[in-house]
Amino acid sequence: MNKIALFEHPLRSTPLVECAGQYCDNRIWIKRDDLIPFCFGGNKARKAAEFYHVLKETDTDLLMTYGSNCSNHCRVIANLAFALGVHCHIISPDSKEEDSFNRLMTEQFGATVETCPVSEVSDTIDRAMASFTEKGRKPYFIMGGGHGIPGCNAYVKAYEEILLQQLEYGVDFDLICHASGTGSTQAGLTCGRLMHAHSGKKCPQVVGISIAREAKRGREVIRESIAEYLGERYEELYRDADLIFTDKYRLGGYGNYNEEVAQLIGKVMSHEGIPMDTTYVGKAFCGMLKYLREKRISGKNILFIHTGGTPLYFDHLKGLS
Ligand SMILES: *Cc1c(COP(=O)(O)O)cnc(C)c1O
Repeated sequence: MNKIALFEHPLRSTPLVECAGQYCDNRIWIKRDDLIPFCFGGNKARKAAEFYHVLKETDTDLLMTYGSNCSNHCRVIANLAFALGVHCHIISPDSKEEDSFNRLMTEQFGATVETCPVSEVSDTIDRAMASFTEKGRKPYFIMGGGHGIPGCNAYVKAYEEILLQQLEYGVDFDLICHASGTGSTQAGLTCGRLMHAHSGKKCPQVVGISIAREAKRGREVIRESIAEYLGERYEELYRDADLIFTDKYRLGGYGNYNEEVAQLIGKVMSHEGIPMDTTYVGKAFCGMLKYLREKRISGKNILFIHTGGTPLYFDHLKGLS
């Protein structure tokens, strides 16, 4: 397996920028995880850096994962596999949409994409894993969205980065908000908070804005990840009130196009020069503003984590969705 020089060293902190535009009665800061210097960045690139260290210890010769046509995760894993010098095989539910830029790049990295009806994704994964193993390959399976301990660990580190940046930038954040999907980003940030809450440091609360799942299932998956990550310390550190995950701003569900979100994305691009996509980041930014308004939160310092998805911004510009 090839080494990836970039991931041999800890990633540098991603910048924080304070918004110039007026969006609500709070000061909004954006943490630019979209600028992580690998394959257009984003939270999947941050997670990939952690998977890299796990994979290096294995004799894997094939990465397998799954995701939709517009999956950022598949793009990043395909690039990771290419850089490692191993094959990448992706299972993806059938889609009527035109190929997204993420899909085109996934294929450009040499990944094979096997599509199937959405109800057969799980069986297709099992079948493909068994078939590769039978042929003497050593496939390594990464859950959708980079879910699992390495993915969670990536955002424990990000939380610790934020604690240091509060000192560096001279600002204490009251809340950290972000788009929550498969839940490992939120699980990691929440674990980071729980592990440091008694250290005397100012530890901002984390608010996940669901872009897909309903609250019940979303919370359950995040709670399980937190339990898995904290292990023996779970009972001592975790209380249900520590997990804030709202499904009120899904605006028609995963991937659904929303005009209000599209307008806000235009405003953010004009005022900040920061691209946001309609499926994750733009939708969550819109949801965060609604959340702050509904909770009558004002005069606070809010940190929004930009979790990436830059290629999706261009899909939207071209009118794909
Ligand atoms: C995957 C993704 C998310 C959601 O992250 P999870 O860890 O799956 O909750 C948010 N934003 C972008 C741009 C993503 O690609």
